[in-house]
Amino acid sequence: MIVYCATSNPGKLREFQLAAPDFDVRALPKSVRPPEEHGDTFEANAIEKALAYGHHTEGYLFADDSGLEVDALDGAPGVHSARYAGDHATDVGNNTLLLDRLQGIHNRTARFVCVIALMLDGKLVKTFRGVVEGHIINEARGSRGFGYDPLFYCPAFGCTFGEATIEQKMQVSHRGLALSDMFTYLRNISST
Ligand code: IMP
Repeated sequence: MIVYCATSNPGKLREFQLAAPDFDVRALPKSVRPPEEHGDTFEANAIEKALAYGHHTEGYLFADDSGLEVDALDGAPGVHSARYAGDHATDVGNNTLLLDRLQGIHNRTARFVCVIALMLDGKLVKTFRGVVEGHIINEARGSRGFGYDPLFYCPAFGCTFGEATIEQKMQVSHRGLALSDMFTYLRNISST
């Protein structure tokens, strides 16, 4: 089955394609511009993205919205994770700001959240949510992954997501869990 995914983030695309070898996961053409995100929840933003991109294709398409919630920062950066350090923020800029904000703070519990919105022929079918708990360490470790991965310590592996392989990360990650639910749903639909 062909499933289009709506993302301009190459780190996410790699994870999407790895998640289900039995599906043909395709990116939309680069000419399709990402929409603005206006929502204050991951669900609202995932649906907004999926509806905007959904006009460009028939069949199944999904979009995700994801981010990092840090308890000591009242859930920030949350839905603003990609642009925490400003509109043209880089991963390094975002990570530096996060470490600045956490200076001297001992409670560093955090979670990654991912919500996927699945569309069929431009109409919303269902959303899927995945969460992984961990904590933010004091300095970046590992050069794998993207975004906040080098700062996110995953107790299940005893290392950061920046040190884990992409295959390991997908077994426990917010995106891996949400994708796994979505592909299970699609397999069930196609077998009935
Ligand atoms: P989105 O494209 O609006 O969903 O932005 C998500 C942002 O959250 C990314 O640009 C990263 O900064 C952060 N993020 C989401 N998922 C991950 C992940 O798996 N690892 C590291 N950072 C992530």
